[in-house]
This record gives sequence, C-alpha cells and structure tokens, in this order.
Amino acid sequence: MTQSPSEASDPAATLADRLAAIRQQIAAAAETAQRKPDAVTLIAVAKTFPAEAVIEALAAGQRHFGENRVQEGMAKYPDLRQSHPDLVLHLIGPLQTNKVKQAVAHFDVIHTLDRESLAQELAREFAKSGRRLPCFIQVNTGAEPQKAGCAPQEADAFIAACRALDLPVVGLMCIPPAEEEPAPHFALLHKIAKRNGLEQLSMGMSSDFETAVMLGATHVRVGSAIFGGRSYPPAS
Ligand SMILES: *Cc1c(COP(=O)(O)O)cnc(C)c1O
Repeated sequence: MTQSPSEASDPAATLADRLAAIRQQIAAAAETAQRKPDAVTLIAVAKTFPAEAVIEALAAGQRHFGENRVQEGMAKYPDLRQSHPDLVLHLIGPLQTNKVKQAVAHFDVIHTLDRESLAQELAREFAKSGRRLPCFIQVNTGAEPQKAGCAPQEADAFIAACRALDLPVVGLMCIPPAEEEPAPHFALLHKIAKRNGLEQLSMGMSSDFETAVMLGATHVRVGSAIFGGRSYPPAS
C-alpha cells in the first residue's frame, strides 16, 4: 500500500485520534482483502514512552501493548494491570535466556522465539510456573546477519522442534529489512506459516501495517504512528 498514515501521524491530533485513524485504516485494508477487521489485533508499541502514554491509550480503549525490553515492561505495567485486568502485554524484542523467568511472569505473549536454547528455557519455565504463554516464532525473512530470528530455510525444522517441546506456538513474526519493500517478506512469512498449519502472523509496523493486513497479518505492531517519534533509538 502506498497510502501513508498521514492523519495518524498528524502531531495536532490527540493520541485517541491517531488510534482511531489507525483502527480505521486496518479495517479498510482488511475489507479490501476480504478479511474481517476483527481478525486483526492492533498492538500499541509503547517502548520508550512513559506509563502516562499507555494510560492515555487505555482510556481510548486500547488493550494490547508491546514492549521490546523485559525490564521496561516490568517497570511500566504492574499498576496498569491492576487497574486494567484485560490488558495484554506482548514481548516483541529479543529475549535472552537469563530473562525468561521475568518475561514469563510479566508478559502474556512472546513474539520472538527464535532459537533452540530459548525454546528449551521457555519450556522449562512454563512447566515450572504453570504459565504457558502463546509464542510466535520470529523468522529472519531478509536473512540479515545482525537481525534476530531463525533463518527461513530452518523455519520448518525449528517449528517442529518447538512443537516437540510442547510449546504453544501460535504463529510467526517478522521484521522486514528497513530498506526493502516489505510485501515479499510478509508473503514469505505467510507461506511458511501456511505450510506448517500456523494461523497467526505478527507483521506490520507504522510504515507498512496496511500492506501487512492485506497479506494476512493477524497482529500489527504499531508504535510511532500512535505515540509519536521516539527520542532515543530502541535496542533491537
Ligand atoms: C519498535 C517496534 C515496532 C514499532 O515500530 P514503529 O515503526 O514505531 O511502528 C514494531 N515491532 C518491533 C519488533 C519493534 O521493535
């Protein structure tokens, strides 16, 4: 899609206005693709923004939030979860094995399962804690050496390995290379998911969520188009 979320990033608009505009764009893209708008979950990525921004989004009806650092999620959400028990917190950033215990305790969904050692650690922690979080397997569709995610050609075997560990794998996630057309990456992710019987696709960010919805995204992760530009670059 070439249409940019211009109204969504209008600095004069309120956060509630921007959220409403994005929900509308998601619905329109879904309709174009003959999908149901409610088949797409909007995850508001609040990384680097304070709890006040999350509270504003909660007031506008937003319930799914994304953070890319375990520590930041632990600091920002405990009180908000008390006041909003239906808040759903998604971990969308890299997960180190030594943070698995904290991640499982504080998050509801993991989007970045990408290697055997992490799969084993998650399986252990799920058994120990009794919390079984739905997991997306991250695929490095652009085969970028610096980026997390399992290689596309290893995805089938890794999905099977995670299933053998009895992990609740619900779908696949990708972050296309910044300088490339995202559509082929979304299509590749869809293809890998389909041949493995996985129904959920976590793909699409502020600049390309409409394209992602057209290509089957069930979860879009939108940050700056909701909260504004980030003042320091997040770790990735
Ligand atoms: C930051 C981030 C996003 C949101 O990016 P925006 O361009 O601000 O919408 C989505 N997914 C991941 C994994 C991120 O780290």
